[in-house]
Amino acid sequence: MSRSPDARTYDLDALRERVLSENGGAVDDSIPQLAEADPALCAIALVLPDGTVRSSAQADVPFSVQSAVKPFLFALALVDTDGAALDRIGIEPTGEAFDALKLESGTGRPPNPMVNAGALLTASLVDGGDVDGRNERILRGLSAFAGRKLEVDEDVARAEHLLGDRNHALAHLMRSEGTLRVSADDAVAVYARACAVLVDAEALAVMGATLACGGVNPVTGERVVPSSVARDVVSVMATCGVYDGSGRWMQSVGVPAKSSVSGAIVLAVPGRLGAAVISPPLDEQGTSVRGCVASDHLSVDLDLHAFGSTQG
Ligand code: GLN
Repeated sequence: MSRSPDARTYDLDALRERVLSENGGAVDDSIPQLAEADPALCAIALVLPDGTVRSSAQADVPFSVQSAVKPFLFALALVDTDGAALDRIGIEPTGEAFDALKLESGTGRPPNPMVNAGALLTASLVDGGDVDGRNERILRGLSAFAGRKLEVDEDVARAEHLLGDRNHALAHLMRSEGTLRVSADDAVAVYARACAVLVDAEALAVMGATLACGGVNPVTGERVVPSSVARDVVSVMATCGVYDGSGRWMQSVGVPAKSSVSGAIVLAVPGRLGAAVISPPLDEQGTSVRGCVASDHLSVDLDLHAFGSTQG
């Protein structure tokens, strides 16, 4: 596995300072806990294939993972269904917002695993039998990706479950199509709890690095998912990870990634590194403003673009 020599010495605190001056965007207010997020929070972490973890200031500040959990739910669903999850869910970009009330026409399947409909479904496909069992399986799986025991912010989980009207609507829509096979409320409960898992930039970067390293956590050495699953997940991150901004993201940053309303972005560059950026103010597509700028700089400075050198 080739590694970027620059990533070992790259000054993440200087990058953090550079992006801190970006003052655009607004903090998500879909639940009170997110509305209270500190708009000045900004942290960046990188994890290399040999397990080296590099972080800026504030990389240990916890936040709820929100939609950055979706690639990992997809991974767990692929493992637990032996790949059959791919028949239950589309993998095409939507060109629409993350919570659009829209399913694939003809099949009634969710359009892809990176939007809410898809993640409601993937969270319902993991092993565990009932809500508690699936919650436990997800927390265990995410902890293996992160290489540490993660916890849930119970207030966030409750608020997401209670206030997620569009998620309830999507779950009922999928029930009506016969594509969701657990009760709508159970599906929302499990997905809401997965969104409420607490990570920090360092943990999320390790999670991204596990995908970038073919499913092996480079810090713990544990194989978390088969390499074919990591490949499938990273492919769908590349095409759908930034919702209706995915095309622009791939053109400019050129790195498979997943955004979230907490302001986190997780990046997975196969064979090179995993990374995470957190900063709560979001643009109109629900992507962290500073996270975009930081990812842009990382891509250029470390030459990460998938389709060619961004330098010179
Ligand atoms: N909790 C959010 C939701 O499902 C997650 C969305 C996101 O991060 N884009 O509504």
